Amino acid sequence: MFQKPGLTSLALSHRTPEFQAILDHAINTTRRVMEIPDEYEILFTHGGGHGQFAALPLNLCRNLTDKASYVVNGTWSERAKNEGDKFCSVQVIDGKDPESGLYTHFPEFTEDNIHPDSKYVYLCSNETVNGIELHRLPKLPESRKHIPLIVDASSDFSTKPIDWVEAGVGILFACASKNIGHPGLTITIIRKDLLGDDKASDLCSGVFNYTTNAKAGNLWNTPATFNIEVVGILMDWLEKEGGVHENEQRSIKKAQLLYDAIDQSNNFYSTPVKNKSLRSRMNVPFNIKGGDQKLTEKFLIESWDLGIVGLRTLTPFGVGDYLRASLYNGITIKDTEKLSEFMIKFQKEN
Ligand code: PMP
Repeated sequence: MFQKPGLTSLALSHRTPEFQAILDHAINTTRRVMEIPDEYEILFTHGGGHGQFAALPLNLCRNLTDKASYVVNGTWSERAKNEGDKFCSVQVIDGKDPESGLYTHFPEFTEDNIHPDSKYVYLCSNETVNGIELHRLPKLPESRKHIPLIVDASSDFSTKPIDWVEAGVGILFACASKNIGHPGLTITIIRKDLLGDDKASDLCSGVFNYTTNAKAGNLWNTPATFNIEVVGILMDWLEKEGGVHENEQRSIKKAQLLYDAIDQSNNFYSTPVKNKSLRSRMNVPFNIKGGDQKLTEKFLIESWDLGIVGLRTLTPFGVGDYLRASLYNGITIKDTEKLSEFMIKFQKEN
């Protein structure tokens, strides 16, 4: 690891050997902490999660007629599918609850809903807005195991182990802003057999091309150097705190504190995802007395006075019907206890 005190990536060209040490450190520590097998390449990519929505089909589909299957069970997978529509022939695996028409569950994979010629099967392992999380990746049916699984882990990466080989992960990406740093960088992890000069569409730009960037060792163009250094620091921290398995236990504990407050509130609070095995540990959506506006405002003001901020966020999809408590790595068990205790007290008083 680069040792000179005071000289961080902020003061280094990305072409220096000193920055190379920072880059290698970020990659090696991520590989160790996230137990990423050697047959996967680790890239730091540009353009956020949305960049990957486009890069994926551009790298895996040569032609607009190539098929790709998308599970659409929340706002982000819906957006990924809409981007995919521009570059390939999308087959939707519909994840809307058939009764309510809402995104509250995850559809089962079957031979019927995955075309055998699909270039990939896409899913989002934590739907940030809808609060639906796959605590473990699902497996494809035996006859579809040749198809690589693509995972958007933007909002749950580093909070649980990943069955890279067993789940058939072809590519997994995560924008850094939630759990492994801050905006401006995406980590994209690619199984090496998906790389190759003949794989991508001719229209795939160099900056999005996985093979081009893997060959250039993440330095085809100027990478987000500071953000890469932060990922390395974050992974060091995770390792010191017991690694990904220990981090999962912390995530379970934090989420449990809030879901208990909701489930034991006699419907004072409610959360849309009823299936407990799909409830997100990262993002806990909840409303107060069915969405009572006055009470919600009172809740937001009182919690804000306690230093609890960000429960009502304006997403690209507008202001949702639910408040949302996000429990990323930056939030401690103590922080979460503070919110759950406030929720219980607020219920008693109102
Ligand atoms: N996927 C998920 C699961 C997300 O939560 C987000 C954004 N928060 C995105 C994709 C989009 O990422 P970006 O804003 O970096 O493009």
